[in-house]
Amino acid sequence: MTRAGRYTRSEEAFARARRVLAGGVNSPVRAFKAVGGTPVFFARGKGSRLVDVDDHQYVDYVGSWGPLILGHAPARVIERLMVAAAGGTSFGAPTTAETELAELIAQALPAVESLRFVNSGTEAVMSALRLARAFTGRPLIFKFAGCYHGHCDALLVAGGSGMATLGAPSSPGVTEGAARDTIVLPYNNLDAVAAALQRDGARAAAVIVEPVAGNMGVVPPAPGFLQGLRDICSRHGALLIFDEVMTGFRVAYGGAQTLYGVTPDLTTLGKIIGGGLPVGAYGGRREIMALVSPEGAVYQAGTLSGNPVAMAAGIETLRLLHGLGVYEQLERASSSLAACLEEAARQAGVAAVVNRVGSMLTLFFLAAGRPARVENWEDASRADTAAYARFFRAMLDRGVYLPPGQYEALFVSAAHDEEDLALTAAAAREAMRAARGSSPGGHVPL
Ligand SMILES: *Cc1c(COP(=O)(O)O)cnc(C)c1O
Repeated sequence: MTRAGRYTRSEEAFARARRVLAGGVNSPVRAFKAVGGTPVFFARGKGSRLVDVDDHQYVDYVGSWGPLILGHAPARVIERLMVAAAGGTSFGAPTTAETELAELIAQALPAVESLRFVNSGTEAVMSALRLARAFTGRPLIFKFAGCYHGHCDALLVAGGSGMATLGAPSSPGVTEGAARDTIVLPYNNLDAVAAALQRDGARAAAVIVEPVAGNMGVVPPAPGFLQGLRDICSRHGALLIFDEVMTGFRVAYGGAQTLYGVTPDLTTLGKIIGGGLPVGAYGGRREIMALVSPEGAVYQAGTLSGNPVAMAAGIETLRLLHGLGVYEQLERASSSLAACLEEAARQAGVAAVVNRVGSMLTLFFLAAGRPARVENWEDASRADTAAYARFFRAMLDRGVYLPPGQYEALFVSAAHDEEDLALTAAAAREAMRAARGSSPGGHVPL
């Protein structure tokens, strides 16, 4: 049973939105540009399921792009945030909830001794870069192609292909000046990092990395890559920043730094720590954080930072995650999802590979003749995005909501159960034939 052509209310909602919202959305990927068609407008979510404005139900693997590790509207989180809201939504003055969430985070992440809350991942990264530059007294930031760290100017920078390239603005409106102090390196290539720092190490403020890349699709760090970055940064006196906005409390309760046993100087967080509300944070070694205003001179502030409702949602989410067995259950469900996607591809004769770390994973459709691995942006950029788009539409029509783009992660939540997985497996077997598209004998009209 498919629903092709019956997204009438979503189509109307999108037409209306486009008249007053830029592009009809408040974040570009929501507009379905990468997969075609009209974005689905949602009415509500509960657990693993979403219901759209046309009353279709979906098994959701987007999870609001990562925050919803407990699924939609978990009862205890909602209860706690409603109590907080009834007591006043914002004071612009300290509350103990901020300290409580900070304590939970500092206990979980070995590298975070002291931290500051902000309102988004972008803000966390932007503030961490300023701090790294202030602490080292140096200008240069090294980032990796395919890693996304939010939309601050200094990181909206593209590199060319090759070993290490000076950044050029990747968006109009970013000045040459803002991009000039960013150098772009290939992910999982320690030789390139060593060579770049050998040359420019004396001007290096920081190397920033997604310790498990999730924004070029999921790409795990190669064995030794993160430790290698740690060693190179220490050798040159540059700070190592782990952007754990996605991986924090996702790949393990203690984030990627715990999973891989590598200690960054600074860590940026977001997504899960806000329990579905807007929160970001940056933190790290006490001596570095001491430079942040008002203790130090590095200015950074926020009217709604540490908002009590958001803190309440974060606290309850981390408490529930800390419970026994959550990550084991996520691992079981996620490995079973990965296996069923790979099996569906294999049976349909579609060249695809799943990259996975814990409950974040990506099914890459491989272009003909490409090796069956994706280890950096070079590899990822060759994926068959048209096949992904066909697969996405076919899954959508069968009640499975996947990320609307090849270069995104699927997220499994603690609310996904056997029934969700069985439904997904059945849909994937059919959708793979659509993904195969016009290859001989493979065409299935949607
Ligand atoms: C989502 C994300 C960001 C940006 O967070 P926003 O809250 O969207 O600003 C930064 N870094 C990483 C690794 C992310 O996944």
